[in-house]
Amino acid sequence: MNDYEVIIGLEVHAELSTNTKIYCNCTTEFGADPNTHCCPICTGMPGTLPVLNEKVVEYAVKAGLAMNCEISRFSKQDRKNYFYPDLPKAYQISQYDLPLCEHGNIEITVGKDKEKYKKNIGITRIHIEEDAGKLIHDAFTGDTLVDLNRCAVPLIEIVSEPDIRSADEAVAYMQTLKSILEYLEVCDCKMQEGSLRCDVNLSVRKRGQKEFGTRTETKNLNSFRAIYNSIEFEIKRQIEVLENGGKIIQETRRFDDVKNIGYAMRTKENADDYRYFPEPDLAPIVLSEEYIEKIKNALPEMPHIKKERYMSKYGLPEYDAEQLTASKYVAKFFEEANDICNNPKAVSNWIMSDLFRLLNENEIEITSCKITSENLAKLILLIDKGTISSKIAKQIFEEMFENGKNPEDIVKEKGMTQISDENAIKEMVEKVVSNNPQSVTDYKAGKDRALGFLVGQIMKETKGKANPQIVNKMLIEILNK
Ligand code: ADP
Ligand code: MG
Ligand code: ZN
Repeated sequence: MNDYEVIIGLEVHAELSTNTKIYCNCTTEFGADPNTHCCPICTGMPGTLPVLNEKVVEYAVKAGLAMNCEISRFSKQDRKNYFYPDLPKAYQISQYDLPLCEHGNIEITVGKDKEKYKKNIGITRIHIEEDAGKLIHDAFTGDTLVDLNRCAVPLIEIVSEPDIRSADEAVAYMQTLKSILEYLEVCDCKMQEGSLRCDVNLSVRKRGQKEFGTRTETKNLNSFRAIYNSIEFEIKRQIEVLENGGKIIQETRRFDDVKNIGYAMRTKENADDYRYFPEPDLAPIVLSEEYIEKIKNALPEMPHIKKERYMSKYGLPEYDAEQLTASKYVAKFFEEANDICNNPKAVSNWIMSDLFRLLNENEIEITSCKITSENLAKLILLIDKGTISSKIAKQIFEEMFENGKNPEDIVKEKGMTQISDENAIKEMVEKVVSNNPQSVTDYKAGKDRALGFLVGQIMKETKGKANPQIVNKMLIEILNK
């Protein structure tokens, strides 16, 4: 496999989070009953005319600027003609030769620790287009049903240069795009709902060879895992074909996410097959300098800038700053909590370790987590004030994750307040010492493990509530008497 180099370019489709569709007033809301979010325009009835939703242009320009593109002052929309049951007009309005944005790039970070490197990936173009409907295959009856709710939901298609060289780079690129689109609030990026999905174009060539090999295109991948696995599969397949003296056929492929195998769908069509021509019912899109300038000035702080700020302002390590800022929602959670408790390192630690672990284990996003940023801040304040030990705090955190309760209430309900009263602790230490003469002898004989055992016994007696610093101090005092 090392004799080959892998060439990948991604075409990413992002559904724009406008309230209404691209050419009519129908809502873009997801998950309604089939064919309830449609009208004569988005179902392509004869005699209807499209009117372009201005927000679509604004969102696409935002994305273009954030990805360092040149914004076209003059662009137009075109008809891409093909028949499929999910496309009632038998053409899709898209952009062909004059897209809204061109010649951009984004920086990605690949790998971890020593293996980590940064790389620029070129963005060929970003254009606007309409989505198609959905076919629902009923496995029971064998029927195929059509749901047109998604017809004419606005999309941007982001086409990358063939700059990507591995599955890891493809995933890092997709994660960076997702992060940027979330920060811009132009796409909700719910990959499992299909609002962010991509096609992987992939070819291999012998190292040293100049020309690219023939590529295949695997369509509609909607999870990072599917992107990664489909690429690994396709690299192996192409190399095997070539090594056995075969040829790669330029084709469109699918990837079965569950079985982890790819299969050919159809040989690829060329652009001329679509008979592209300018959309006669829509005027060209002409943008003024002021319009573009205004959008540029209103762009939010982007993830890589936020990361730098977290490092300089809060003194967080680069890795932590990167993890906290990769998702806009995590960054927001971090900032809200820190505004209350003013302890950035503690907030960062709780998010990076316990919170990420629980989110992962439960496969949920931070946006649907029951712990609020305010309650995390309260928990940190309880530790900082010495009301609870950090060990008890871990238990409380788990409970907060389960039921979303206020940590102050949990402490009160369960009597978890830390015992810091020296007299009370002294009593317990004396009791444990007199009950464990063997450990005392061991300690005096220089066996340090005996000390740990005695501390453990005291913590057990107090159900973890004794202040560990005071316990240690008292124990040593009494043992050395
Ligand atoms: P289409 O798929 O609509 O024909 P393009 O020809 O512009 O569109 O290419 C789409 C994608 O394929 C781009 O992301 C581009 O970088 C990538 N690509 C082009 N040639 C190759 C190749 N030989 N190997 C891998 N990717 C390629
Ligand atoms: Mg394509
Ligand atoms: Zn409509």
